[in-house]
Amino acid sequence: MSKYIPYGRHSVDEDDIEAVVRVLRSDWLTTGPKVEEFEEALADFCKMPHAVAVSSGTAALHIAMACLNIGPGDEVIVPAMTFVATANAVVFMGARPVFADVQEDTLLVDPESIEHCITHRTKAIVAVDYAGQPCDYDLLSSIAKKHGLFLIADACHSLGGAYKGRPVGSLADITVFSFHPVKPITTGEGGAIVFRDERLAQRARRLRNHGIDLDFRQRASRASWEYDMVALGFNYRITDIQCALGISQLKKLPGWIKRRNEIAMKYKKAMQDLPDLSPLLIRPGVECGYHLFVALLKDSLMRKTFFHFMRSANIGVNVHYKPVYLHSYYKGLGYGQGLCPVAEDAYTRMVSLPIYHGMKNDSIGYVLEQIIKFDC
Ligand SMILES: *Cc1c(COP(=O)(O)O)cnc(C)c1O
Repeated sequence: MSKYIPYGRHSVDEDDIEAVVRVLRSDWLTTGPKVEEFEEALADFCKMPHAVAVSSGTAALHIAMACLNIGPGDEVIVPAMTFVATANAVVFMGARPVFADVQEDTLLVDPESIEHCITHRTKAIVAVDYAGQPCDYDLLSSIAKKHGLFLIADACHSLGGAYKGRPVGSLADITVFSFHPVKPITTGEGGAIVFRDERLAQRARRLRNHGIDLDFRQRASRASWEYDMVALGFNYRITDIQCALGISQLKKLPGWIKRRNEIAMKYKKAMQDLPDLSPLLIRPGVECGYHLFVALLKDSLMRKTFFHFMRSANIGVNVHYKPVYLHSYYKGLGYGQGLCPVAEDAYTRMVSLPIYHGMKNDSIGYVLEQIIKFDC
């Protein structure tokens, strides 16, 4: 029996550790120079002017909503197939998430379903680059523009991916990232928001720091005790310790994306001869980050059997995700079964196979061997 193979995991090398230790020996543990350096590196990577680093992807989503003044009476369209945090950020603001269904071959938000969800209350659309595949941003941008809506990309899965040659981060008004350990790069916990608009970026910087106009370092450099709280903000700051790790990780991301693509190709090649398992479709013109490798089985019974078969072989298959509105909390808000049939059906048949940049060939071989064993 193989050692347990998780569905995803981080890689931390000696140079990452050294970068963190250098910060621990320095004068700044938080709000220091590494935060800015990480933000600049991330903005460059995304070919965008502004990045604001924060304490988590959830904090990034919350700040994105607050920057746009989303509030009570507003609706924000989010895909049903995503992690709960995408919708929760809308609820934090007192607004209502409206769930759009997904396309059955990609599980990316269905532009037609988005159009059906738009009302006079709609303020914004959140697109989720599910499993690492960028959405069709030209189409989504045109829908947003036609209806005067903001487009937010929840790119927690897709940092390092691209759409028509343009990097993820540059494809929407606002893009949100997470640096949780299973995500494309990690800072332990962490997140970021990338903007084209400087004023929105300034607002985000303020909101991350209690809504105060200057941070500690700016005040220190001005020899002034005075600060003014101009909006109700949060403490969503990220530390220099975390950002040093982020800077070091980001340098390796292009190589990691290549490796994830190699692994995905091996799975897909094997699945050509396995009628029971079908990988998601990757549309032409996109570069997929393969945060997850999701395959669909024929029906829910076969998924259940496959899931337990793989787990008993010590393979950490998983399911991403239960449609958000089927969670008890959302049911309590009045949402219910039947809202997004494609997402609901996919949830009963899907499985995430192990994929991570540090995955060794013998682990991939072992997973493939077990899949083939299941199929015969
Ligand atoms: C991970 C994730 C988040 C939340 O990020 P955290 O850093 O864990 O707060 C939000 N949306 C999606 C799609 C995610 O995968």
